[in-house]
Amino acid sequence: MKQSEDSKKAFAAISEDRLVALARKIISMPSKLFEEHEVADYLDRYLSDMGFAVEMMEVTHPWDETLVTRQPIAILKGTGGGPSLMINGHMDTNVTMSGWTVDPYEGKLEDGWLWGLGAQDDKGGMAAAISGIEGLIEAGIKLKGDIVMCPVAAHKVGGTGTRTLLRKGVGADFCINIEHAANTIGTVCTGGIRVKITTTTPGLFFRFTPEARAKYTNAIEQQADLIGRFGPSLTNQLPNNWLSHTPHPELADFPMIRYDSIGKDHYGRGCELVFQVRTIPGMTLDSVRDDVQRVLDGINDIPNLDYELTIPANGPTDPYFMDPMEISPDHPLVRAVAEGQELASGKPALIGSVERIGNYGDGNVIGASGIPSLQYGPGDIKVYPEWPAPDERVLVSELMITAKACAHAALTLCG
Ligand SMILES: [Zn+2]
Repeated sequence: MKQSEDSKKAFAAISEDRLVALARKIISMPSKLFEEHEVADYLDRYLSDMGFAVEMMEVTHPWDETLVTRQPIAILKGTGGGPSLMINGHMDTNVTMSGWTVDPYEGKLEDGWLWGLGAQDDKGGMAAAISGIEGLIEAGIKLKGDIVMCPVAAHKVGGTGTRTLLRKGVGADFCINIEHAANTIGTVCTGGIRVKITTTTPGLFFRFTPEARAKYTNAIEQQADLIGRFGPSLTNQLPNNWLSHTPHPELADFPMIRYDSIGKDHYGRGCELVFQVRTIPGMTLDSVRDDVQRVLDGINDIPNLDYELTIPANGPTDPYFMDPMEISPDHPLVRAVAEGQELASGKPALIGSVERIGNYGDGNVIGASGIPSLQYGPGDIKVYPEWPAPDERVLVSELMITAKACAHAALTLCG
């Protein structure tokens, strides 16, 4: 593949020192969910210094309005007449797992690895994307279209920061959602729908007569029976193949369900079960609702079954509801990022569900809003026994590849 002169200039202007310094700086600032303020303010100044016009946007928790945080939405104006590119990645980190062997906020650098909470999810990737655009600016390249840099807050509450900016009218022609993908290009991602079923124990004053017992099925036992109907977690071998779908070659093990919570108070009569459905392209909220209802309607052998169904589990505006995301591998956005990835790494780009399999990101939300999106970024979760994990770390070489791929994509897409 032939690289344009501008792309070569941009690659040469991307500074590893500056990238690593930025990543370490924001890793040093704790930014748990709804505590992203310090990183937000730092990136506000950093992006302003680069020439971005920054609007600090408030983000409110979807069901607790006392929780408010903020995110800097930054636009680098193009010269006009070109498509715009959004780069979106989250500032909030995973919860701090136990077992860290290094200081999660120090940003230790050793043998080409950068360690720290957020190193790959998502601060390292965001620092890389910002450094990529910095390279374009340093190289004196002027794009026609705008760059819309969105370091978002509250990603862990179903993309609340991203939902907020979309609601406020922030948009673009394309979006790269920075998420750990070991620098593969996520073009197919599952969606997620939480299903809540509440069963109720009959309120019998005196349970120990034969008549009373005939009317009684405990709410927990009802749920145990329902679990048998919906089948096991993490497999697509579900009873009667109850989730309607057309199999997707990239997501052969999906759709699947996973049980998330079950609970009943000692004296309470209701028992609440929540499971999530990981959906594949073609499945919708309505199709899943119909499927669940069909399973429930078909039950006539659980005595005294008394349930209430809520889909999505947290009501109509449930932020945990995500549509699946899919974009054609031939889409100009995919081609541009793949080219950048290949030029930066010297290896063919892997495109599809690859390292994003079973995951979703804010790219799902952005894609569902009509903006063509993909999920891409540094960091390989296969280096940990499970994810999230202590000792989060990322290869600096992957950060540099990400920076270059983003710069190349911006150059290609924004003119
Ligand atoms: Zn993430």
